[in-house]
Amino acid sequence: MTIEKKSCDLCGLPVEIEGFTLLTKEGNKEFCCEGCQGIYQMLNEDKLLADDAAK
Ligand SMILES: [Zn+2]
Repeated sequence: MTIEKKSCDLCGLPVEIEGFTLLTKEGNKEFCCEGCQGIYQMLNEDKLLADDAAK
């Protein structure tokens, strides 16, 4: 079995903790931390699907 490391869709660092994700029109984005998730969310508001974004 291989463990596939994902990289943060904002800064490119490996994602060590799962759970910082956003569902967008371009697919599911993963982030290394809450900060990256928040920044991506701000920059791409128009691409987000109304799942987590509506909070
Ligand atoms: Zn990051």
